[in-house]
Amino acid sequence: MTDPQRDCVIAGGGPAGMMLGYLLARAGLEVTVLEKHPDFLRDFRGDTVHPSTITLLGELGLREKFLALPVTRLSTLDAVIEDERLTLVDFGALRAPDNFLVLAPQWDLLNFLAHEAQALPGFDLRMDTEATDLLHDRPRPGESDDDAAVLGVRVRAAAGEHEIRARLTVAADGRSSTLRAAAGLIPVETGVPIDVLWFSLPQPSDPGAPTLGHLSSAGMVLTIDRGDTYQSGLIIRKGGFRDLQHDGLPAFRARLVRAAPKLLEVVHTLTDWEQIKLLTVQINRLPRWHRPGFIAIGDAAHAMSPMFGVGVNYAIQDAVALANAISAELRQGVVTEQTLAAVQTRRQRPVKLMQSIQARGHKVIARSTEGRRVVPRAGARLLRLSSPVLRRITARVIGVGLLPEHVRTPAEPGPRERIVKRG
Ligand SMILES: Cc1cc2nc3c(=O)[nH]c(=O)nc-3n(C[C@H](O)[C@H](O)[C@H](O)COP(=O)(O)OP(=O)(O)OC[C@H]3O[C@@H](n4cnc5c(N)ncnc54)[C@H](O)[C@@H]3O)c2cc1C
Repeated sequence: MTDPQRDCVIAGGGPAGMMLGYLLARAGLEVTVLEKHPDFLRDFRGDTVHPSTITLLGELGLREKFLALPVTRLSTLDAVIEDERLTLVDFGALRAPDNFLVLAPQWDLLNFLAHEAQALPGFDLRMDTEATDLLHDRPRPGESDDDAAVLGVRVRAAAGEHEIRARLTVAADGRSSTLRAAAGLIPVETGVPIDVLWFSLPQPSDPGAPTLGHLSSAGMVLTIDRGDTYQSGLIIRKGGFRDLQHDGLPAFRARLVRAAPKLLEVVHTLTDWEQIKLLTVQINRLPRWHRPGFIAIGDAAHAMSPMFGVGVNYAIQDAVALANAISAELRQGVVTEQTLAAVQTRRQRPVKLMQSIQARGHKVIARSTEGRRVVPRAGARLLRLSSPVLRRITARVIGVGLLPEHVRTPAEPGPRERIVKRG
């Protein structure tokens, strides 16, 4: 069975795929988003919505509606480093009104985008539907299989397997992308010395001021304020989870308390390793994001470290850059490979910069997993002295980033109105 041809088919209903689907449908195009899960509910995904994304929501007229959801706003990110409390990022230094960060469960953001997109006539979201392979044109004489144009995707759904043909196919299917592999694109990995264990803890009776994390020679523990609970993370050396499990939960709990003493009252709630989820931290990037009729964006093109919580925002920025570049061409019926290459060129600059900052940050953090001071004494003094300047720089680099994207796609009438107008 084959569906009628769409302007665009997107594999993956994460931040990149949902934002791209919304933008293209808003531009009057016919777009299908495929999400392999039946819902968006997954624990410990990137839950940080940065100022740059809030600005984009504003440009789409969705800012106030989104902020009306039960979200947490933070204007600074504070950490306790070697027993000293420091403000590392001051989003308040950014231009108002988008001078804060929002913590919102990722499924709230995705449900919100899905709800808004479903009001647009060209938008078609298929949950519980997995993209399993690409449909290729036959290679022309002299072309290799890899150069043959991509014509759409093969999908598996409850009703069975079928094909969806589209003028452009987008892999937004995350860090283990099936479609990226089907396109023969292989990411280049940057070595990462750490992994993260995520778990939830109740807040102690006297939690004190919100603190992003505790970092010292005793370890690094994240304590992200989620109302009554902390989304907590322990940074461990890469591949070290098995050893921790071998040492047992009492040793794990003691390690948390050594690094973040305020957790003493609540660590007893960790009674089973099932409560603890391993995030294998990765930094990678595709040397080439595209093929004729195909492009990868978001984590499928570049897995980001969770450091600074930028993954969601970079995925969304990719979606905006892609929509800006292709909407007019898609309306004409074809997207050229030069246009896709230009999207890669544009987006890989901020991605590379952020990934190199993250890689340097990993080296500092990794010391905490080896029982070493993370910041030498002289460095701590410097950090304190340069703090106000540093906070402004970090707010700009983390909250806004290099080359922030802006919505350039106008809201167009939907596909049905378009046909009537043309006719
Ligand atoms: C455990 C964990 C914790 C994280 N913590 C943070 C954090 O604290 N801060 C942060 O910024 N980032 C974090 N990240 C990274 C962040 O979630 C990602 O950078 C961001 O979500 C990337 O968005 P995306 O849309 O590119 O991909 P994803 O969010 O990975 O979305 C891809 C979507 O595609 C779907 N999918 C996959 N394969 C298929 C297929 N074949 N067909 C159809 N659908 C498919 C998946 O179900 C998923 O919904 C974390 C990631 C993980 C895994």
